[in-house]
Amino acid sequence: MAVGRFEPVGDVQGGGLTLHGFAVPRLRDDVRQELEAARGMLDFYASEFGPPPYPELVLAGVEGQVPGGHSPPGMVLLAHRPAFLKLQRLRDDPAQLACEPNFFLAHELAHQRWGHGVAGQNYRERWISEAFAHYAAALWVRHARGEEMFQQALIQFERWALRHSEVGPIHLGYRVGHIEGDPQAFRGVVYDKGAYVLHMLRGPVGPEAFRTAMTALQSRFRYGKVGSHQVREELETAYRSVGGRGASELAGRDGLGRLLVLLLVLLLVLLLVLLRQLVQALETLGVSRPALRPAPYLPEKAAARARSYVWIPRTPRRWQQARWLSSKSAARPGAADAPARRRT
Ligand SMILES: [Zn+2]
Repeated sequence: MAVGRFEPVGDVQGGGLTLHGFAVPRLRDDVRQELEAARGMLDFYASEFGPPPYPELVLAGVEGQVPGGHSPPGMVLLAHRPAFLKLQRLRDDPAQLACEPNFFLAHELAHQRWGHGVAGQNYRERWISEAFAHYAAALWVRHARGEEMFQQALIQFERWALRHSEVGPIHLGYRVGHIEGDPQAFRGVVYDKGAYVLHMLRGPVGPEAFRTAMTALQSRFRYGKVGSHQVREELETAYRSVGGRGASELAGRDGLGRLLVLLLVLLLVLLLVLLRQLVQALETLGVSRPALRPAPYLPEKAAARARSYVWIPRTPRRWQQARWLSSKSAARPGAADAPARRRT
């Protein structure tokens, strides 16, 4: 319920429902513009998510210190800043999209389906309300404003998600905001990161299967509650219905393929590193590639044994020369004290 000096500002038809506009006197023009924008949103949501949960809806414009919205069943309440407050700069927030002033309206209208038409089973499934409404609004941005604006929305989702991801996971719901007493963390994780997760799911299954799954969720669980596992099941069923093998199989196959490639690359790198280390160690020890003939200083017996080896260590040149001279000097009396005998 909303209490105030509301005046009716008109009705519009869109997406299978009638939207009645009401506003406090200073906001009549704003709400009129929003009614026109809402018509396109309602048509778009009907094409993406199926029929609306309620045949009639009220859009009420009120004044507030900060822009925002609230969306109980059958009503969307939008807060507008009074003119004298608009000079004051607002803090950036994960819930809004600075480049699209009607983003709040799109988000709140989507809550009639995601949050009321279908709701999460418990607080851990809060993302089924907030992230789905947020992503629905982003899809409307793409539909109405084009791909570039949609990409800007995704960049913003990513930025807020990265900023707050370490606070807690999506399935903590509103508790994410309580961990550090920062409500923006809740919105950054559950709204923005959740919306990005939906975008990542929509990629592999494709827009057609995604639309089928969302419509099926709305029709099968209308006015009921669902969990994330049911969202996954509907996505898999829809993916199979358009010729895919199932979202989990697709994810598994892709994941396995990436894992194999990663393992092969790691193995190759490891082999290269080991080979390099081995070569360096051999060079340090003075071991080189096998000589086809045994070194001349080796006694005949050792030389014969060495011929059967593939690798034959070769001593540093000076030491090898010394030993070789030494063996020759043993055959020549008087040459035993040759300089080559010096220890090296
Ligand atoms: Zn919301």
